[in-house]
Amino acid sequence: MNFKITLIGGDGIGPEVTESARVVLEKIALVYNHSFKFNEALAGGCAIDACGKPLPEETLTACKESDAVLLGAVGGTKWDTYPGDKRPETAILGLRKQLGLFANLRPAKLFPTVLGDSPLRGDITEKGIDLIFVRELTGGIYYGERGRENKNGTTRAFDTETYTDSEIYRVGKYAFELAMQRRKNLVSVDKANVLESSRLWRETLHNLSREYPQVSYLDMLVDNAAMQLVKAPSQFDVIVTSNMFGDILSDEASVLTGSIGLLPSASVRNDLFGLYEPIHGSAPDIAGQNKANPIAAILSAAMMLKYSFSLFDEALSIENAVNTALSNGLRTADMFSASTKAVSTAEMTQHILEHIEKK
Ligand code: NAD
Repeated sequence: MNFKITLIGGDGIGPEVTESARVVLEKIALVYNHSFKFNEALAGGCAIDACGKPLPEETLTACKESDAVLLGAVGGTKWDTYPGDKRPETAILGLRKQLGLFANLRPAKLFPTVLGDSPLRGDITEKGIDLIFVRELTGGIYYGERGRENKNGTTRAFDTETYTDSEIYRVGKYAFELAMQRRKNLVSVDKANVLESSRLWRETLHNLSREYPQVSYLDMLVDNAAMQLVKAPSQFDVIVTSNMFGDILSDEASVLTGSIGLLPSASVRNDLFGLYEPIHGSAPDIAGQNKANPIAAILSAAMMLKYSFSLFDEALSIENAVNTALSNGLRTADMFSASTKAVSTAEMTQHILEHIEKK
Protein backbone atom coordinates (compact mmCIF):
# COMPACT_ATOMS: atom_id res chain seq x y z
CA MET A 1 0.00 0.00 0.00
CA ASN A 2 1.07 3.62 -0.60
CA PHE A 3 0.88 6.38 2.01
CA LYS A 4 1.99 10.01 2.17
CA ILE A 5 3.43 11.12 5.51
CA THR A 6 4.31 14.69 6.49
CA LEU A 7 7.32 14.64 8.79
CA ILE A 8 7.70 17.58 11.19
CA GLY A 9 10.89 17.20 13.23
CA GLY A 10 10.47 20.53 15.04
CA ASP A 11 12.97 21.62 17.69
CA GLY A 12 15.43 20.16 20.22
CA ILE A 13 15.36 16.35 20.18
CA GLY A 14 12.36 16.41 17.80
CA PRO A 15 14.40 15.92 14.59
CA GLU A 16 16.54 13.17 16.21
CA VAL A 17 13.59 11.06 17.38
CA THR A 18 11.51 11.54 14.20
CA GLU A 19 14.51 10.40 12.18
CA SER A 20 14.52 7.19 14.27
CA ALA A 21 10.80 6.75 13.59
CA ARG A 22 11.33 7.40 9.88
CA VAL A 23 13.98 4.70 9.47
CA VAL A 24 11.78 2.24 11.37
CA LEU A 25 8.89 3.02 8.99
CA GLU A 26 11.23 2.52 6.03
CA LYS A 27 12.17 -0.90 7.37
CA ILE A 28 8.47 -1.75 7.76
CA ALA A 29 7.88 -0.66 4.15
CA LEU A 30 10.70 -2.93 3.01
CA VAL A 31 9.66 -5.97 5.05
CA TYR A 32 5.92 -5.71 4.29
CA ASN A 33 6.20 -4.34 0.78
CA HIS A 34 4.55 -0.92 1.29
CA SER A 35 5.57 2.51 0.06
CA PHE A 36 5.77 5.48 2.45
CA LYS A 37 6.48 8.85 0.86
CA PHE A 38 7.90 11.35 3.36
CA ASN A 39 7.49 15.09 2.99
CA GLU A 40 9.50 17.18 5.48
CA ALA A 41 7.92 20.38 6.84
CA LEU A 42 8.75 23.07 9.40
CA ALA A 43 6.85 23.98 12.57
CA GLY A 44 7.76 25.52 15.93
CA GLY A 45 10.91 27.49 16.72
CA CYS A 46 12.74 26.37 13.58
CA ALA A 47 9.84 27.71 11.49
CA ILE A 48 9.96 31.05 13.36
CA ASP A 49 13.68 31.26 12.53
CA ALA A 50 13.18 30.29 8.89
CA CYS A 51 10.04 32.24 7.99
CA GLY A 52 8.86 34.29 10.96
CA LYS A 53 5.90 32.17 12.11
CA PRO A 54 5.52 28.92 14.04
CA LEU A 55 3.06 27.33 11.63
CA PRO A 56 3.75 28.30 7.99
CA GLU A 57 0.97 27.90 5.42
CA GLU A 58 3.09 25.42 3.41
CA THR A 59 3.26 23.13 6.45
CA LEU A 60 -0.50 23.21 6.92
CA THR A 61 -1.02 22.51 3.20
CA ALA A 62 1.48 19.62 3.30
CA CYS A 63 -0.38 18.12 6.29
CA LYS A 64 -3.75 18.46 4.58
CA GLU A 65 -2.40 16.71 1.48
CA SER A 66 -0.99 13.72 3.38
CA ASP A 67 -2.49 10.61 4.93
CA ALA A 68 -0.90 11.28 8.33
CA VAL A 69 1.55 13.54 10.14
CA LEU A 70 4.47 12.49 12.33
CA LEU A 71 5.72 15.23 14.63
CA GLY A 72 8.73 15.37 16.98
CA ALA A 73 8.36 18.28 19.42
CA VAL A 74 8.51 22.05 19.36
CA GLY A 75 9.83 24.75 21.68
CA GLY A 76 13.03 25.68 23.44
CA THR A 77 14.69 28.30 25.59
CA LYS A 78 15.63 30.39 22.56
CA TRP A 79 11.96 31.32 22.01
CA ASP A 80 10.85 31.39 25.69
CA THR A 81 10.61 35.19 25.79
CA TYR A 82 8.29 35.39 22.77
CA PRO A 83 4.71 36.56 23.51
CA GLY A 84 2.15 33.77 24.06
CA ASP A 85 0.59 33.87 20.60
CA LYS A 86 3.97 33.84 18.81
CA ARG A 87 5.60 30.98 20.71
CA PRO A 88 6.60 27.72 18.96
CA GLU A 89 3.98 25.76 20.95
CA THR A 90 1.14 27.62 19.18
CA ALA A 91 2.02 25.52 16.11
CA ILE A 92 0.65 22.42 17.87
CA LEU A 93 -2.62 24.13 18.85
CA GLY A 94 -2.90 25.52 15.31
CA LEU A 95 -2.37 22.10 13.74
CA ARG A 96 -4.97 20.45 15.99
CA LYS A 97 -7.53 23.18 15.33
CA GLN A 98 -6.92 23.61 11.59
CA LEU A 99 -6.86 19.88 10.96
CA GLY A 100 -10.03 19.32 13.04
CA LEU A 101 -8.35 16.82 15.36
CA PHE A 102 -10.94 16.56 18.13
CA ALA A 103 -9.64 13.56 20.10
CA ASN A 104 -6.28 12.88 21.64
CA LEU A 105 -5.33 9.25 22.20
CA ARG A 106 -2.72 8.60 24.83
CA PRO A 107 -1.90 5.01 25.67
CA ALA A 108 -0.08 4.15 28.88
CA LYS A 109 1.28 0.63 28.61
CA LEU A 110 3.80 -0.88 30.95
CA PHE A 111 6.14 -3.18 29.03
CA PRO A 112 6.63 -6.37 31.11
CA THR A 113 10.41 -5.90 30.84
CA VAL A 114 10.39 -2.49 32.55
CA LEU A 115 8.13 -3.22 35.54
CA GLY A 116 10.93 -2.07 37.84
CA ASP A 117 11.02 1.37 36.17
CA SER A 118 7.51 2.23 37.36
CA PRO A 119 7.25 4.29 40.54
CA LEU A 120 4.39 2.01 41.67
CA ARG A 121 4.83 -0.98 44.01
CA GLY A 122 5.47 -4.38 42.40
CA ASP A 123 2.18 -5.85 43.68
CA ILE A 124 0.34 -3.15 41.68
CA THR A 125 2.41 -3.28 38.48
CA GLU A 126 2.42 -7.08 38.29
CA LYS A 127 -1.31 -6.90 37.43
CA GLY A 128 -0.30 -4.98 34.28
CA ILE A 129 -1.03 -1.49 32.94
CA ASP A 130 -2.50 -1.23 29.45
CA LEU A 131 -4.88 1.70 29.18
CA ILE A 132 -5.64 4.45 26.72
CA PHE A 133 -7.02 7.94 27.24
CA VAL A 134 -9.41 9.50 24.75
CA ARG A 135 -9.17 13.18 25.63
CA GLU A 136 -11.49 15.73 24.02
CA LEU A 137 -9.10 18.12 22.33
CA THR A 138 -10.78 21.13 20.76
CA GLY A 139 -13.40 22.20 23.30
CA GLY A 140 -13.87 22.76 27.03
CA ILE A 141 -12.17 25.29 29.26
CA TYR A 142 -9.07 25.69 27.06
CA TYR A 143 -11.24 27.14 24.29
CA GLY A 144 -14.03 28.79 26.32
CA GLU A 145 -14.49 32.49 26.97
CA ARG A 146 -11.83 33.94 29.26
CA GLY A 147 -10.81 37.31 30.52
CA ARG A 148 -10.14 39.72 33.34
CA GLU A 149 -12.26 42.47 34.87
CA ASN A 150 -11.32 45.23 37.25
CA LYS A 151 -14.10 46.49 39.54
CA ASN A 152 -13.71 48.66 42.65
CA GLY A 153 -10.02 47.83 42.94
CA THR A 154 -10.59 44.06 42.67
CA THR A 155 -9.29 42.07 39.73
CA ARG A 156 -11.40 39.11 38.66
CA ALA A 157 -10.23 36.50 36.15
CA PHE A 158 -12.43 33.84 34.56
CA ASP A 159 -12.19 30.84 32.24
CA THR A 160 -15.31 29.11 30.97
CA GLU A 161 -15.88 25.39 30.51
CA THR A 162 -18.45 24.83 27.77
CA TYR A 163 -19.41 21.72 25.82
CA THR A 164 -22.16 21.09 23.30
CA ASP A 165 -23.87 17.71 23.18
CA SER A 166 -22.50 17.14 19.66
CA GLU A 167 -18.89 17.76 20.81
CA ILE A 168 -19.39 15.24 23.61
CA TYR A 169 -21.16 12.77 21.31
CA ARG A 170 -18.38 12.63 18.69
CA VAL A 171 -15.57 12.04 21.21
CA GLY A 172 -17.78 9.61 23.17
CA LYS A 173 -18.57 7.66 20.02
CA TYR A 174 -14.84 7.47 19.20
CA ALA A 175 -14.15 6.11 22.69
CA PHE A 176 -16.90 3.45 22.49
CA GLU A 177 -15.63 2.34 19.06
CA LEU A 178 -12.10 2.09 20.44
CA ALA A 179 -13.31 0.11 23.45
CA MET A 180 -14.99 -2.31 21.01
CA GLN A 181 -11.57 -2.96 19.41
CA ARG A 182 -9.91 -3.48 22.80
CA ARG A 183 -11.13 -5.11 26.04
CA LYS A 184 -14.65 -3.55 25.81
CA ASN A 185 -14.32 -1.57 29.00
CA LEU A 186 -14.95 2.20 29.09
CA VAL A 187 -14.72 4.63 32.00
CA SER A 188 -15.99 8.17 31.50
CA VAL A 189 -14.42 10.72 33.83
CA ASP A 190 -16.27 13.90 34.81
CA LYS A 191 -17.17 16.13 37.75
CA ALA A 192 -20.93 15.75 37.45
CA ASN A 193 -21.51 16.31 41.18
CA VAL A 194 -20.47 19.98 40.69
CA LEU A 195 -20.29 21.05 37.02
CA GLU A 196 -23.26 21.48 34.66
CA SER A 197 -21.01 20.81 31.64
CA SER A 198 -20.11 17.47 33.27
CA ARG A 199 -23.80 16.65 33.77
CA LEU A 200 -24.37 17.12 30.02
CA TRP A 201 -21.22 15.03 29.42
CA ARG A 202 -22.59 12.20 31.58
CA GLU A 203 -26.08 12.37 30.06
CA THR A 204 -24.69 12.18 26.51
CA LEU A 205 -22.35 9.30 27.34
CA HIS A 206 -25.22 7.39 29.01
CA ASN A 207 -27.36 7.77 25.90
CA LEU A 208 -24.46 6.55 23.77
CA SER A 209 -23.82 3.57 26.03
CA ARG A 210 -27.23 2.14 24.96
CA GLU A 211 -25.79 1.76 21.43
CA TYR A 212 -22.92 -0.34 22.81
CA PRO A 213 -24.41 -2.99 25.13
CA GLN A 214 -21.25 -5.11 24.70
CA VAL A 215 -19.11 -2.41 26.34
CA SER A 216 -18.93 -2.39 30.12
CA TYR A 217 -19.43 1.31 30.94
CA LEU A 218 -18.74 3.21 34.17
CA ASP A 219 -18.84 6.88 35.27
CA MET A 220 -16.07 8.05 37.57
CA LEU A 221 -15.57 11.42 39.24
CA VAL A 222 -12.24 12.99 38.33
CA ASP A 223 -10.92 13.08 41.91
CA ASN A 224 -11.59 9.37 42.30
CA ALA A 225 -10.04 8.66 38.87
CA ALA A 226 -6.82 10.44 39.93
CA MET A 227 -6.66 8.15 42.95
CA GLN A 228 -7.63 4.93 41.13
CA LEU A 229 -4.91 5.47 38.51
CA VAL A 230 -2.18 5.01 41.10
CA LYS A 231 -4.07 2.56 43.32
CA ALA A 232 -5.32 0.07 40.73
CA PRO A 233 -4.42 1.09 37.16
CA SER A 234 -5.03 -2.45 35.85
CA GLN A 235 -8.83 -1.84 36.12
CA PHE A 236 -8.71 0.61 33.18
CA ASP A 237 -8.97 -0.11 29.47
CA VAL A 238 -10.33 3.02 27.70
CA ILE A 239 -10.87 6.29 29.60
CA VAL A 240 -12.80 9.12 27.93
CA THR A 241 -12.75 12.60 29.38
CA SER A 242 -12.78 16.35 28.75
CA ASN A 243 -9.88 18.46 27.55
CA MET A 244 -8.58 19.65 30.94
CA PHE A 245 -9.23 16.45 32.94
CA GLY A 246 -7.57 14.45 30.14
CA ASP A 247 -4.57 16.76 30.07
CA ILE A 248 -3.92 16.28 33.78
CA LEU A 249 -4.83 12.59 34.17
CA SER A 250 -2.90 11.43 31.10
CA ASP A 251 0.26 13.06 32.46
CA GLU A 252 -0.32 11.28 35.75
CA ALA A 253 -0.71 7.97 33.89
CA SER A 254 2.41 8.62 31.82
CA VAL A 255 4.76 8.37 34.80
CA LEU A 256 3.32 4.99 35.79
CA THR A 257 5.03 3.31 32.86
CA GLY A 258 8.63 4.24 33.64
CA SER A 259 9.75 7.10 31.42
CA ILE A 260 8.23 9.95 29.46
CA GLY A 261 10.54 8.80 26.65
CA LEU A 262 8.38 5.69 26.08
CA LEU A 263 4.95 7.18 25.44
CA PRO A 264 3.37 7.94 22.08
CA SER A 265 0.17 9.83 21.29
CA ALA A 266 -2.24 10.46 18.44
CA SER A 267 -4.61 13.30 17.63
CA VAL A 268 -7.42 12.06 15.44
CA ARG A 269 -10.76 12.90 13.84
CA ASN A 270 -13.60 10.86 12.31
CA ASP A 271 -11.76 9.79 9.15
CA LEU A 272 -8.45 7.92 9.18
CA PHE A 273 -6.21 11.01 9.15
CA GLY A 274 -4.17 11.64 12.31
CA LEU A 275 -1.23 13.49 13.81
CA TYR A 276 1.18 11.32 15.77
CA GLU A 277 3.77 12.55 18.26
CA PRO A 278 5.61 11.49 21.40
CA ILE A 279 4.10 13.00 24.54
CA HIS A 280 7.44 14.49 25.59
CA GLY A 281 8.67 17.94 24.66
CA SER A 282 11.80 19.06 22.85
CA ALA A 283 14.10 18.28 25.83
CA PRO A 284 16.57 21.12 25.14
CA ASP A 285 18.83 19.81 27.95
CA ILE A 286 19.81 16.73 25.90
CA ALA A 287 19.24 17.96 22.33
CA GLY A 288 21.94 17.11 19.78
CA GLN A 289 23.74 14.70 22.13
CA ASN A 290 22.48 11.36 20.78
CA LYS A 291 20.94 10.73 24.22
CA ALA A 292 17.21 10.99 23.57
CA ASN A 293 15.01 7.96 23.95
CA PRO A 294 13.55 7.37 20.47
CA ILE A 295 10.94 4.83 21.64
CA ALA A 296 8.04 7.29 22.13
CA ALA A 297 8.48 8.54 18.56
CA ILE A 298 8.88 4.99 17.21
CA LEU A 299 5.71 3.88 19.02
CA SER A 300 3.95 6.97 17.63
CA ALA A 301 4.81 5.63 14.18
CA ALA A 302 3.30 2.28 15.25
CA MET A 303 0.10 4.10 16.28
CA MET A 304 0.05 5.74 12.85
CA LEU A 305 0.21 2.33 11.18
CA LYS A 306 -2.62 1.08 13.39
CA TYR A 307 -5.04 4.02 13.45
CA SER A 308 -4.45 5.77 10.11
CA PHE A 309 -3.31 2.96 7.80
CA SER A 310 -5.02 -0.07 9.43
CA LEU A 311 -1.69 -1.97 9.23
CA PHE A 312 -2.11 -3.93 12.46
CA ASP A 313 0.54 -6.64 11.96
CA GLU A 314 3.08 -4.00 10.99
CA ALA A 315 2.30 -1.97 14.14
CA LEU A 316 2.64 -5.08 16.25
CA SER A 317 6.02 -5.92 14.78
CA ILE A 318 7.28 -2.47 15.87
CA GLU A 319 5.90 -2.98 19.38
CA ASN A 320 7.51 -6.42 19.55
CA ALA A 321 10.87 -5.03 18.39
CA VAL A 322 10.72 -2.33 21.09
CA ASN A 323 9.87 -4.96 23.69
CA THR A 324 12.82 -7.07 22.53
CA ALA A 325 15.22 -4.12 22.84
CA LEU A 326 13.98 -3.44 26.37
CA SER A 327 14.08 -7.11 27.41
CA ASN A 328 17.64 -7.31 26.06
CA GLY A 329 18.44 -4.71 28.73
CA LEU A 330 19.04 -1.75 26.40
CA ARG A 331 18.29 1.62 27.99
CA THR A 332 18.84 5.21 26.90
CA ALA A 333 20.08 7.56 29.63
CA ASP A 334 16.59 8.45 30.90
CA MET A 335 16.02 4.81 31.96
CA PHE A 336 19.53 3.58 32.64
CA SER A 337 20.28 1.68 35.87
CA ALA A 338 23.17 -0.50 37.04
CA SER A 339 21.65 -3.76 35.73
CA THR A 340 21.04 -2.42 32.19
CA LYS A 341 23.13 -1.54 29.15
CA ALA A 342 23.46 2.17 28.32
CA VAL A 343 22.86 2.98 24.65
CA SER A 344 22.59 6.10 22.52
CA THR A 345 19.59 7.16 20.42
CA ALA A 346 21.25 5.69 17.32
CA GLU A 347 22.13 2.37 19.03
CA MET A 348 18.61 1.92 20.41
CA THR A 349 17.15 2.67 16.97
CA GLN A 350 19.52 0.21 15.29
CA HIS A 351 18.65 -2.55 17.74
CA ILE A 352 14.91 -2.01 17.18
CA LEU A 353 15.46 -2.00 13.38
CA GLU A 354 17.29 -5.32 13.56
CA HIS A 355 14.34 -6.93 15.36
CA ILE A 356 11.62 -5.87 12.97
CA GLU A 357 10.39 -8.95 11.23
CA LYS A 358 7.28 -10.11 9.43
CA LYS A 359 4.82 -11.95 11.66
P1 NAD B 1 10.34 17.82 28.04
O1 NAD B 1 9.40 16.70 27.87
O2 NAD B 1 10.97 18.37 26.84
O3 NAD B 1 11.51 17.38 29.07
C1 NAD B 1 11.25 17.01 30.43
C2 NAD B 1 12.41 16.12 30.90
O4 NAD B 1 12.30 14.84 30.30
C3 NAD B 1 13.80 16.64 30.52
O5 NAD B 1 14.70 16.33 31.55
C4 NAD B 1 14.16 15.87 29.28
O6 NAD B 1 15.55 15.69 29.08
C5 NAD B 1 13.46 14.54 29.54
N1 NAD B 1 13.02 13.92 28.28
C6 NAD B 1 11.97 14.29 27.51
N2 NAD B 1 11.89 13.51 26.44
C7 NAD B 1 12.91 12.63 26.51
C8 NAD B 1 13.35 11.58 25.68
N3 NAD B 1 12.73 11.24 24.54
N4 NAD B 1 14.45 10.90 26.06
C9 NAD B 1 15.08 11.19 27.20
N5 NAD B 1 14.70 12.17 28.03
C10 NAD B 1 13.63 12.89 27.70
O7 NAD B 1 9.51 18.96 28.83
P2 NAD B 1 9.96 20.43 29.23
O8 NAD B 1 11.39 20.44 29.67
O9 NAD B 1 8.92 20.89 30.15
O10 NAD B 1 9.82 21.28 27.90
C11 NAD B 1 10.89 21.59 27.00
C12 NAD B 1 10.34 22.30 25.80
O11 NAD B 1 9.43 21.43 25.10
C13 NAD B 1 9.53 23.54 26.15
O12 NAD B 1 9.81 24.54 25.22
C14 NAD B 1 8.07 23.08 26.05
O13 NAD B 1 7.19 24.13 25.76
C15 NAD B 1 8.19 22.10 24.89
N6 NAD B 1 7.12 21.09 24.87
C16 NAD B 1 6.68 20.75 23.64
C17 NAD B 1 5.73 19.76 23.52
C18 NAD B 1 5.27 19.38 22.15
O14 NAD B 1 5.94 19.72 21.17
N7 NAD B 1 4.18 18.65 22.00
C19 NAD B 1 5.24 19.10 24.65
C20 NAD B 1 5.75 19.45 25.89
C21 NAD B 1 6.71 20.45 25.99
